[in-house]
Amino acid sequence: MLKSIWELFNKEDLFECYQCARCTGSCPAAMVMKCYGPRETLLRCLNLGQEAVINDERVWYCTTCHVCEDRCPQEINISELLTAIFNLAAQRGNLPEKIKFGVDLIAKTGRSLIVNEKVLKDRQKLSLPPLDPLNIDEIEGILKKTGLNDAIELS
Ligand code: SF4
Ligand code: SF4
Repeated sequence: MLKSIWELFNKEDLFECYQCARCTGSCPAAMVMKCYGPRETLLRCLNLGQEAVINDERVWYCTTCHVCEDRCPQEINISELLTAIFNLAAQRGNLPEKIKFGVDLIAKTGRSLIVNEKVLKDRQKLSLPPLDPLNIDEIEGILKKTGLNDAIELS
């Protein structure tokens, strides 16, 4: 069991940040959600500690696209920090409703989006091939192995 995000991310790396904000300026999530930014997340980690970010639903706007670390002049692995935050939050069952809903949907259907009649008709209109059936047992096995099943039950 993970006890601290510092088991997955080297805390010393936070001190390399000189708050240039290039990461936030490049972040696609920050472009649409003004309340979110990787620079701000990093700063909160430094100033307030891990509990402040683990309990902050804003971090879940991150899509782990890695653009922030590609653009960081200090080569700080910011998405690794966010992944550490997600891991500890999930282990504690601290998942926002939208994430829980998504994982639940994957567990039940194997897909992260609802596939209804409209979606199927739209696919036909676009001449897309029919969707292949998914192996739910295999997906259930993955969710169990990663502990995501437990995280959903805890939330
Ligand atoms: S780009 Fe790097 S150095 Fe600049 S604010 Fe972001 S993390 Fe800090
Ligand atoms: S990894 Fe997350 S924080 Fe970094 S640019 Fe992508 S969405 Fe933004």
